[in-house]
Amino acid sequence: MKPEGERITYHNGVLSVPDHPIIPFIEGDGIGPDIWRATQKTVDAAVARAYRGQRKIAWMEVLAGEKAYHATGEWLPQATLDAFQEYRVGIKGPLTTPVGGGIRSLNVAIRQALDLYACVRPVRYIPGVPSPLREPQKVDMVIFRENTEDVYAGIEWPAHSPEAQKVIRFLNQELGCNIAPEAAIGIKPMTQFCSDRLIRAAIRYAIRRRRRSVTLMHKGNIMKFTEGAFRDWGYQLAAREFPDQVISEEAVWRDHGGQVPPGKVLLRDRMADITFQLVLLRPDELDVIATPNLNGDYLSDGVAAEVGGVGMAPGANISDEVAVFEATHGTAPKYANQDKVNPGSLILSAVMMLEHMGWDEAADLLRRSLEQTIQDRVVTYDLARQMEGAREVKTSEFAEAMIARMG
Ligand code: NAP
Repeated sequence: MKPEGERITYHNGVLSVPDHPIIPFIEGDGIGPDIWRATQKTVDAAVARAYRGQRKIAWMEVLAGEKAYHATGEWLPQATLDAFQEYRVGIKGPLTTPVGGGIRSLNVAIRQALDLYACVRPVRYIPGVPSPLREPQKVDMVIFRENTEDVYAGIEWPAHSPEAQKVIRFLNQELGCNIAPEAAIGIKPMTQFCSDRLIRAAIRYAIRRRRRSVTLMHKGNIMKFTEGAFRDWGYQLAAREFPDQVISEEAVWRDHGGQVPPGKVLLRDRMADITFQLVLLRPDELDVIATPNLNGDYLSDGVAAEVGGVGMAPGANISDEVAVFEATHGTAPKYANQDKVNPGSLILSAVMMLEHMGWDEAADLLRRSLEQTIQDRVVTYDLARQMEGAREVKTSEFAEAMIARMG
């Protein structure tokens, strides 16, 4: 049912957010209802306190996953996709991937249906959270991962299949390749259009949020015409569209003695392999990172482990017009309905959502109350088992503890 409120609109690149925006949410399967309740409660409290009741979110439940299947016989009803499209901003808990039934993953289906081309994952250390790093306070990155192409386009054929053999024959006979006839084949398409829009989103984010740099992470030394082109297209795009706001590393050394001029965002590129070393040894050298699909997949979960693991990692899938914020972990079915797990991932996704809406005061309040609660060592089981002297609380108690710290 549609609640009392107004639509968020999008015109000429600008999002207009009314004081009572309707925001569709998917509660999610498994632990979804537990973490969603904690999220809704803490977000409402932060908004109410930040704006003294002048602003309020009109939440609208939309269905996906098991709840949708039981109510409608469909795992992902069209009405849910339409709602995200119409209301521009949405948030979701984790969803079970149905076994069989022709759907690979509901999350992938949502991304594809709405052409949510960028997966955005901020990775920032919260003091007190157990970390394998010596200086985890140096971790503060935002990863923009391309979501629609690369080897994830799903173009692959099994070894010995007629399709694989046909492609191999073509490559060997027409293009002079030397591929073993029994090979499996996967294809890696990458276009300038999709690379440009991802890199553009990362640069715009860096400018808007006053970040220091954007690093293009690629494997262009080996895959020259896909990942190498990603890097080249990135520099060309920055020179074409952001000449006054962005400066390349080459220009910094050539014209400015290695010092980035004040107010400019540095654009540079790094090989994927060296980036994995940097995120461990000198994470403060990385800020916003823009990268193709596969690199981004590995990197996002790898660096999440530096700051508390997937239970704490927020994320969003965005296009120019629509943004869907989500917990990055799964449904953890063994913990379903136990009021036990960490709601941090979904709550921090809601922080991103509030920032995306321009409600920075509420976002700050929500983030600070979560940080304070963890610093006070009031935590759910996953962090408690790694922290000395922690008080283990339930999901709902963690939310209450956050609200009590909103001042
Ligand atoms: P998972 O649900 O992410 O759970 C794996 C483990 O991660 C859990 O057993 C738990 O570790 C830890 N964990 C996850 N969420 C946590 C939280 N909020 N707080 C604390 N710890 C948390 O992965 P899975 O078991 O591989 O997948 C289960 C289902 O989720 C599958 O159907 C899968 O398809 C789906 N899935 C959905 C999404 C999504 O909707 N975005 C993403 C991934 C997977 P411990 O056991 O060590 O306590």
